Amino acid sequence: MSSTISTKKVIVVGGGIAGLTSAWHLSKAGFDVQVLDAGDTPGGRCREIVLDGVPVRAGARMLYSFYGGVMALIDELGIADEMVKLGHASIQCESTSKRYPITFGPSKDLLFGGSMSLRTLLRLRKLIPDLVKARRSGNPDDVASLSEFDHLTLAEYLREKGLEEFDSNVVQPLFRGARNWNTKDVSPSFFLLTTAFMAGHYAFTFKQGIGYLAQKLAERLQVRSGVQVSAIEETATGVRVLANGAAGETLELEADLVVCATEGDAARRLLKGPQPYVTEFLGGVRYNPLNINYAVLESAPARTLDFYGEGHPCGLAIMECVPGSGRAGDPPKIFCESGPEQSRARLGGQENSRLLPGLQQHIGKAAPGAVVKRWVNQWIPSMLPVPYPGYIATLKKFRSEQASQPRKVYFAGDYLGTALVGGACASAGDTAQLIKSHWA
Ligand SMILES: Cc1cc2nc3c(=O)[nH]c(=O)nc-3n(C[C@H](O)[C@H](O)[C@H](O)COP(=O)(O)OP(=O)(O)OC[C@H]3O[C@@H](n4cnc5c(N)ncnc54)[C@H](O)[C@@H]3O)c2cc1C
Repeated sequence: MSSTISTKKVIVVGGGIAGLTSAWHLSKAGFDVQVLDAGDTPGGRCREIVLDGVPVRAGARMLYSFYGGVMALIDELGIADEMVKLGHASIQCESTSKRYPITFGPSKDLLFGGSMSLRTLLRLRKLIPDLVKARRSGNPDDVASLSEFDHLTLAEYLREKGLEEFDSNVVQPLFRGARNWNTKDVSPSFFLLTTAFMAGHYAFTFKQGIGYLAQKLAERLQVRSGVQVSAIEETATGVRVLANGAAGETLELEADLVVCATEGDAARRLLKGPQPYVTEFLGGVRYNPLNINYAVLESAPARTLDFYGEGHPCGLAIMECVPGSGRAGDPPKIFCESGPEQSRARLGGQENSRLLPGLQQHIGKAAPGAVVKRWVNQWIPSMLPVPYPGYIATLKKFRSEQASQPRKVYFAGDYLGTALVGGACASAGDTAQLIKSHWA
């Protein structure tokens, strides 16, 4: 396929926030862009879905005002009036030995909650130089902007500062709950960047729900939902995309360029005969899986949010009682998020037949009077890309190879920045910029 620069045809594979954002920027630059997405609605891990009659989030719960690319899009789309600021959530944390409150959200209480000894509280000052460095020279949308901590895990980093108690009481439960990572699985950059940028910022969603941004972008683009791409292959003249359409038809599409904006592990499976530098990088991209069970209730429980450290008897990371909106089709429920160990065991094929009876028993104690009508399961095989030690170095190498010369296949997604909506959106902006610099 060949065409003039102004009519270069681009297929964006994946209609999550990264795919939609790259399509948006490329369309504005005059490229002829089509988005193909496997989901029944666009938005990927940043939208609402209905599972077995119960409305749930496909992923993201809240956005932060320090997401530069997201805030710019909100301005451009004129949807700032639809934002709803979220207050700080007060969370009960439970370790094997005690129960205490902490605060989740942009607040200094995030650091100082957690039932810690005076010695640990005093040692928290040791974080200040790195937090200041992160705030001054880092970009919260780009985990690679803080690369000097790439050689160790977050648990090791906190141990070096004598902050084991801060790790076990605050960081570990928050990371297990919000990210389903253990602090021994990731390098410190994500923690330092996101913590450093909390001050002066706020968390938000939209009146219409978290998927509103994706929905508004999709309305302005050519998006085909329900299209499952099976192969992306470079040809002599362009790129061929093979897919199954929403009605089960086979599609064979040609484009000048492709932006692969699927999850990074899916990208690895789709590409046929990729360049060696792509194979090498994608081979190192890892996502953690996530298992969630919702107990659908007879009547509304009091709203509570509990995070658990390692060692919960049911392997839980979060339990949240959600009264529901009171509207038909939005029943009260209890959100039970499995911890990383249990989610990984399920990925490895180990179904835990004792889980639901155990949860039922736990609910009896934690939310007395709650009557469970039925259970709904949500399985997310690729929750978040894991920024493990060494990842930033491989990411930087990959980016510089991508940028070194015009390519036919480009990439966008949260695994190319910070593992959040902000990172996905910013990576898409960078990719669109790179394509323009190569081809426009
Ligand atoms: C449980 C959970 C909680 C989270 N909480 C937060 C939060 O509070 N705040 C935050 O900022 N971030 C949060 N995140 C992370 C955030 O949701 C993601 O980082 C972001 O949405 C990723 O966007 P993306 O476009 O890179 O990927 P995705 O949204 O995954 O988009 C990829 C798209 O590719 C499509 N696709 C995949 N394979 C194919 C194929 N073969 N053919 C066609 N299409 C395909 C998928 O359908 C999907 O739409 C959370 C994620 C999860 C799972």
